[in-house]
Amino acid sequence: MMEENIAAIATPAGKGGVAIIRMSGKNPLEIAKKMFYPAGKIKVEDFEPYRMYPGRIDGGAFEDYGLCVYFKAPASYTGEDIIEFQCHGGESIARGILKQTFRLGAKAAGKGEFTKRAFLNGKLSLASAEGVADMINGESEAEVKAGYLLYTEKLTNKVRDLQARLKTLLAGIDVSVDYPEEDIEEQHVAELKEALCKLTKELSSLIEAYGVGKKIKSGVTVAICGKPNTGKSSLLNRLLGYDKAIVSSVAGTTRDAVEGTIEIGGRKFNLYDTAGVRESGDFIENIGIERAESIIKSADVAVFVADMSPQGGMDEEDIRVLEMVKGKPLIKVLNKSDLTHDKTETDADVHTSAVTGEGILRLKELLFEKSFGARSEDAAFLIEERHFDALRRANESLQKGIAACEIAPLDLIGIDVKEAWDALGEITGETATEAIIHEIFEKFCVGK
Ligand code: GDP
Repeated sequence: MMEENIAAIATPAGKGGVAIIRMSGKNPLEIAKKMFYPAGKIKVEDFEPYRMYPGRIDGGAFEDYGLCVYFKAPASYTGEDIIEFQCHGGESIARGILKQTFRLGAKAAGKGEFTKRAFLNGKLSLASAEGVADMINGESEAEVKAGYLLYTEKLTNKVRDLQARLKTLLAGIDVSVDYPEEDIEEQHVAELKEALCKLTKELSSLIEAYGVGKKIKSGVTVAICGKPNTGKSSLLNRLLGYDKAIVSSVAGTTRDAVEGTIEIGGRKFNLYDTAGVRESGDFIENIGIERAESIIKSADVAVFVADMSPQGGMDEEDIRVLEMVKGKPLIKVLNKSDLTHDKTETDADVHTSAVTGEGILRLKELLFEKSFGARSEDAAFLIEERHFDALRRANESLQKGIAACEIAPLDLIGIDVKEAWDALGEITGETATEAIIHEIFEKFCVGK
């Protein structure tokens, strides 16, 4: 596609070693000719693609000395001709050079427009473009890994394989509908049903992976609960490695849920300190208790903290908290281990001290194990809710098709199969609406 030239600064705002100004379109080389003066005898129009050339770059009111590289269509990120200037990494320098490209006819690129062009030119699928965004926005190693798998078309390849098989089934249905013969049709339906069952099994196991994927993308929600003064805030601070929650020795002063995020084993964990869960006449504290209850309900894992110091120990209040976290993966922590010597008669998973740091590493290990199991799945790439939703709908259509095999004529089963194909096409981009595509590229920054 021959589109007008767009330009943007590809590097983040601020000072840095290098800044990159990027142009893509039908003839960015024409613009480069008027604002880049190569060192030596070579002319811009004679540039070999994918080679760096040093020279002077025109910034309008000033010049910089930097590099220029030409990517030739279609072997470029966008599938169009691309020119990139590398200049010294000052904001005014990059902005001056960008403005110069505008003066010479380039248009300001919109959010994610380079990647959008790449998608429209068939250089990558929609899921792959989303993988790029996931990598850039990723806050943990696991998110970056998952984004990279998406970017390199791991999900798309799987989905395309499913689509191809659905298409073959559809072609078979069309033939049978056009040339109906009773006994053949019966056998055909049986074969079709078998094929659909196999497909739905594969889809289901793919969909299941979202359990892990969701936790990778959003982070594991950890509710640290227990009665007041057992050391929840102190433990949270220890886990975070800095003082975030307010620590106080007056019971019931952690009024709000305090959040902090840490990485364990390359994955994100959102920690919530809950206000003391107990009956209280204090209105503000009651609000805190309500929040605590809602956090505990939505948590993936609960860390139950009890007090080990001589005046502490399990009581009714502890039992009430334990009741609330019933059914969730639970880690029982006995804190203040520095205040007691007897660690034998407890059913705690780990003994900790927020003061000395004892048991904190083990607590982190337990958090990972309880959230993901001891085995860590490196191949998790189903992290986008959009993809999960499309797969789920595709699977529903297949289930409908399987049910229809018992009663309906072939062409009606075909409708369900086609619906499944369409739902899968939303992942690759083939059937994604303008609105969906727009929304996806809105998540990008300018220059990507
Ligand atoms: P929370 O109400 O459960 O959040 O408890 P805090 O974190 O506010 O701690 C209550 C009190 O216990 C504070 O005075 C802390 O300094 C103290 N504390 C917390 N953890 C420990 C610990 O492991 N050892 C000792 N000796 N004191 C602790």
